[in-house]
Amino acid sequence: MSVESMLGDLAGVGRSPTGGYRRFAWTDEDLTLREWFRGAAEATGLAVTEDRVGNQWAWWGDPDASLAAGRPGVVAGSHLDSVPGGGNFDGPLGVVSALRAVEALRRDGFVPARAIGVANLVDEEGARFGVACTGSRVLTGAMPRDRALALADGDGVTLAEALTRAGRDPDGFDRDDAALARVGTFVELHIEQGRWLVDEGSPVAVASSIWPHGRWRFDFAGEANHAGTTRLADRDDPALKLAALILKAREVATGLGCVATVGKVRMIPNGVNAIPSAATGWLDGRGADEEAVRRLVPSIEDALGVRAVEESFTATTLFDPALAAGLAELLGGAPVIGTGAGHDAGVLAAHGIRSAMLFVRNPTGVSHSPEEHAEPADCEAGAAALTTVLRSLAAT
Ligand SMILES: [Zn+2]
Repeated sequence: MSVESMLGDLAGVGRSPTGGYRRFAWTDEDLTLREWFRGAAEATGLAVTEDRVGNQWAWWGDPDASLAAGRPGVVAGSHLDSVPGGGNFDGPLGVVSALRAVEALRRDGFVPARAIGVANLVDEEGARFGVACTGSRVLTGAMPRDRALALADGDGVTLAEALTRAGRDPDGFDRDDAALARVGTFVELHIEQGRWLVDEGSPVAVASSIWPHGRWRFDFAGEANHAGTTRLADRDDPALKLAALILKAREVATGLGCVATVGKVRMIPNGVNAIPSAATGWLDGRGADEEAVRRLVPSIEDALGVRAVEESFTATTLFDPALAAGLAELLGGAPVIGTGAGHDAGVLAAHGIRSAMLFVRNPTGVSHSPEEHAEPADCEAGAAALTTVLRSLAAT
């Protein structure tokens, strides 16, 4: 089976009438994808298990016997859920390529010296419950189980209720050290979410790090009033302050060599004929240089005379440098690049699991959109690279 044909098997699941995919965690679409994963893994000769959080692990060889022999497994995988209006590559490409790689190794008669696994990690995008990488965060204990279970979707359905509806027991939902111990090395192949490889002229890259990433909230107060009868000079309009924030964020980020985005705003009362009484803007800031990302918000605060609330800050996630360098060499001098997007592999790396990522060229660089694409030849090159990586990592 080619990567393209396996992706084609998924192409009808969760396709939205407005274009793109909607595959949210623990919905019917997700359950269909999980069944597909089970079937495809079993057809490849793997034994599928599910950990306490709902992540699926398909094993070639007994991972516990491998661990007991001092050779914890090598796992490749990614996720099958999507953002609203997402593409068919972000996530599925990594899962499908891992299955394809294992299939190739088995066909070649490769005899692994340690168990090899393929993972489908649950709820990576956080599109339904609002927190990304829930599957890996709860698995590793980075997010407490009670906090995760209490998260609610747009209809007020909590994760605990969604698990129950999907036939899972929320009481058992918790970090799972036994499942994690089986993973000696984790490799996530992912479509590139940018155009770096287009310029580089290479179909595959190895990741060096995930950029530091912060989210801040700016609250602006004003005075609500009538949009027709209040003279401009008499207004205290917080939307103007929000507009200033958006423009200043762009200017400061440009100067610091970072990226900054105000992609979410809230107006109160949010009426077309009302001067708002309050406005809030959320700033997402990232960049290769952590010091520069740290300077982003203080610079904006000083320039505008306002104060922000830091909602989250994740420091640089460094993938194992020796592993990244080794894989780049193994792949014939593949480029080693950083990324501004978060991934489960980053959560596992932060937990201390030896982790790596491979990126596959995306001709437009567009991601989280139906326009997301990788050429079939590049998908095969990615799967071949992953096959080479698994063969090497499981050889001893
Ligand atoms: Zn992804």
